[in-house]
Amino acid sequence: MSVADGNAAGDAADVIRTEALTRSFAMGSTTVQALRGVDLVIRRNEYVAIMGPSGSGKSTLMNLIGCLDTPSSGEYWLNGNPVAKLGEDELARIRNRDIGFVFQTFNLLARATALRNVELPLIYAGVAPAERRELAADALRQVDLGDRMDHRPNQLSGGQRQRVSVARALVTRPALLLADEPTGNLDTKTSYEIMALFDRLHAQGNTIVVVTHERDIAEHAERIVTIRDGRIESDERCGKRRTSAPAASEQAEVS
Ligand code: ADP
Ligand code: MG
Repeated sequence: MSVADGNAAGDAADVIRTEALTRSFAMGSTTVQALRGVDLVIRRNEYVAIMGPSGSGKSTLMNLIGCLDTPSSGEYWLNGNPVAKLGEDELARIRNRDIGFVFQTFNLLARATALRNVELPLIYAGVAPAERRELAADALRQVDLGDRMDHRPNQLSGGQRQRVSVARALVTRPALLLADEPTGNLDTKTSYEIMALFDRLHAQGNTIVVVTHERDIAEHAERIVTIRDGRIESDERCGKRRTSAPAASEQAEVS
């Protein structure tokens, strides 16, 4: 790889870097332009919310960032690697190990216990049974479901199901946690529980990108990127809701 290629990949702390990313879908004789050129850099341990009206391209962008889909044009570097140049095996490995995905609809296996659902990514990764049970149990304890491991999804509440899917996303210790409207099917109280869990994961060092169209949910993040008609309309820092004391430098400002 040339020096120029290396520079194009940007700073080593950039987990996500996109340049002029587009995605269009052919629909019969017309083309839907879901993304019209997105430049986005997300650094390690950032907590970013993506907002925007329905149909603005949020899920399309998340699917590209998560390597679940391929752009029509533009560039995407994940952890400094140009995704377009990665082979299918490498992409499968990245999807399985480096990225945790949480969906609005949970996407859990109905007939499998919570423990089994969380073990799945480890089964695909070829982790031995005893070790994967231990890792899955750890991940469930991390989301406060240590006492529900043998329950199937229909024996759990919506919030508990979403916590199982967060545990499944975390079990491979991914560098990046992506959540597309994770609270879209949850009531307000349960939504806050899920967001409190994301806050905790962020404090532990995870890089988190969460799509939501609720402002108060988005305000859990440090940064809000708003998308409209397939483009970034605004990108703002926001005062993160704190559970801990503010930094000394900020205390100096308010006193
Ligand atoms: P959002 O998540 O912000 O609601 P999406 O990214 O799902 O928006 O969709 C953006 C636009 O792209 C919409 O007009 C949607 O209809 C279109 N779109 C998304 N996925 C597909 C697809 N697989 N085929 C055709 N059109 C799609
Ligand atoms: Mg969507």
